[in-house]
Amino acid sequence: MNDPHPTVASPAPANATANSPTNPPPPDPIADPIATILQVIREGERFLVCSHSRPDGDAVGSVLAMGMFLEQIGKRADLVTADRIPVVYRKLPGADGIRTALRVNGPYDAAILLECDSADRTQLRGLERFTIINIDHHASGRAWGQVNWIDREAASVGELVYRLIKAAGAKLTPEIATCLYTTLLTDTGGFIYGGVRASTFALAEELTLAGADPIQISKDTYFRMPMSKLLLLGAALNNLHREGRLAWLWITHNDMVRTCAVDEDCEGIVNYALSLADVEAAVFLRELPEQRIRMSLRSKGKVNVAAIAESLGGGGHENASGCTVDGPLDRALDEILAVLRPYVAGGGAKQESRSG
Ligand code: 5GP
Repeated sequence: MNDPHPTVASPAPANATANSPTNPPPPDPIADPIATILQVIREGERFLVCSHSRPDGDAVGSVLAMGMFLEQIGKRADLVTADRIPVVYRKLPGADGIRTALRVNGPYDAAILLECDSADRTQLRGLERFTIINIDHHASGRAWGQVNWIDREAASVGELVYRLIKAAGAKLTPEIATCLYTTLLTDTGGFIYGGVRASTFALAEELTLAGADPIQISKDTYFRMPMSKLLLLGAALNNLHREGRLAWLWITHNDMVRTCAVDEDCEGIVNYALSLADVEAAVFLRELPEQRIRMSLRSKGKVNVAAIAESLGGGGHENASGCTVDGPLDRALDEILAVLRPYVAGGGAKQESRSG
């Protein structure tokens, strides 16, 4: 029989003062971040749950799953992101409960930050007033919160939310399973890159058995593109270039306006450049207003693009990262190509363009 409010399996009672069988010591936050997080959750009532700006599938799915978990164990959860939820993720259970805001006020017992390697990454103001629980799986993840759980092996941050739910003894409902499956699917690009390993498929199986529908989730994620996205892709492919093992493409602000595209339409465009045979690294550049350039970096294995993005003020994973740099576009392109060329050297320097 399912208990609608299962007890959080945190080892230490709120008023533990001495080490004894009835008063065990509090969990070590470094050795056992899961127990520490569960203890903070157990002792609190109301939590803020956030992820990064321009939320992707892992951000949206993990925020929703965390919110449903907290409510299941009798807590209150406010779900907030600085940017609106992309259309493809708005069918996820509870997605209309995520609030878009630029400032958070509280009061909250803690703010749970999912896949953010800094407060800046959220683009939310007001976070500094709260105890931060930082849960991340990026190569660029760092211990910037009061409680930190960073596991770079996890295929998605949703995988970490899953482990928390299991450790708490809470129920993996079909709604939670659907959100967590979405995190796995999207952060591995459809199970083809990132930290995919045997355990990823074991988790996908468990989530499917718990009620996630893999085919429906894939359809919702990949077969509901707005026209603007494909028109934007066409504009980007017009600017596709290749030099040996390096490929790049870009769109201008005018392309965005002409195709009526929005931020989320840019997601995944970089993968078309990376999909070229023998290309090792790819860059997608996008002109933002005010002479800033947004870059998405990807590699197929050897090139650590997280380190490159970090050196430019961004971050991410070894094979997928991003950053925002100063323009104009041609200068930003020259700079990133100069950084990347030595990493992919040896593949020949013949330059090709779409028409070349
Ligand atoms: P994308 O290129 O799809 O925007 O991002 C690829 C990966 O890099 C994602 O995991 C994303 O969270 C991370 N990322 C993208 N831009 C930034 C950034 O400006 N700062 C940090 N820290 N991570 C980023």
